[in-house]
Amino acid sequence: MSILQVQNLKARYAQTGDDILKGISFDVAEGDFYAIIGPSGAGKSTLIRCINRLVEPSEGSVSLFGQELTTLSARELRKTRRHIGMIFQEFNLVNRMSVMDNVLSGRLGYVGTTRSLFKLFPRSDIQRALELLDRVGLIDHVDKRADQLSGGQRQRVGIARALMQDPQLLLLDEPTASLDPKISRDVMQLIRDTARDLGIPVLCNIHDVALAKEFCNRILGLQSGRMMFDGKTADLADSD
Ligand code: ADP
Ligand code: ADP
Repeated sequence: MSILQVQNLKARYAQTGDDILKGISFDVAEGDFYAIIGPSGAGKSTLIRCINRLVEPSEGSVSLFGQELTTLSARELRKTRRHIGMIFQEFNLVNRMSVMDNVLSGRLGYVGTTRSLFKLFPRSDIQRALELLDRVGLIDHVDKRADQLSGGQRQRVGIARALMQDPQLLLLDEPTASLDPKISRDVMQLIRDTARDLGIPVLCNIHDVALAKEFCNRILGLQSGRMMFDGKTADLADSD
């Protein structure tokens, strides 16, 4: 079943006016861990951000479970974003909040509150956050401040926070670009295995082609805002 359908997507930034995405079309289906690869400046991050309209597409269609996202009102968009988990290169944690509070903030569907959240949530949410922290290997760190953790641990908090949204889709924007190679593999493996277990499709902007080939089942190759490849990872030539 198709979960996310992108058709003829175009985008430009107001400051420059050039088309950054020049008509992108692809389908993310159930069970997919879909990588977007391509050289720096190809438009990978812009494409990821067009899906939940952190960047507004100038043309084309984005449909999630049959719901067109490009025409949603601001209010509807906020609701829909609650079901789209995002994981960022720089983790985007609130440093002076605890690991637990960072994860709980996922329940609110947005990132970046500074209040302590612990008391605001029902027991079931606390329980769920603990389960997710256990799953990502941080059960012994729940009360630490986010800035006391290593990079790999911080990204694991980012993963747990995104999962706390009960997402229908995960969007990853260079999730391993701030991590060293060994940790990057661990993080990719965790994302793949968790997404598989929970049945969540993933769309991932990733610079590192070797990582994409190792962990993702489908690959979209971008260059200068155009699609150069879209298919199964196994069909990507070794030279690509
Ligand atoms: P990638 O993720 O593949 O490195 P990006 O999507 O970040 O590519 O960028 C694609 C192009 O869009 C680049 O030429 C970049 O300079 C430009 N760009 C990215 N963000 C902005 C912005 N906020 N304003 C203007 N141009 C931007
Ligand atoms: P930049 O690279 O431009 O600094 P960020 O990656 O820090 O951008 O985040 C861009 C914006 O996305 C921020 O304003 C942040 O509040 C917002 N944001 C964070 N999480 C989500 C989410 N799950 N859905 C939608 N927007 C989000």
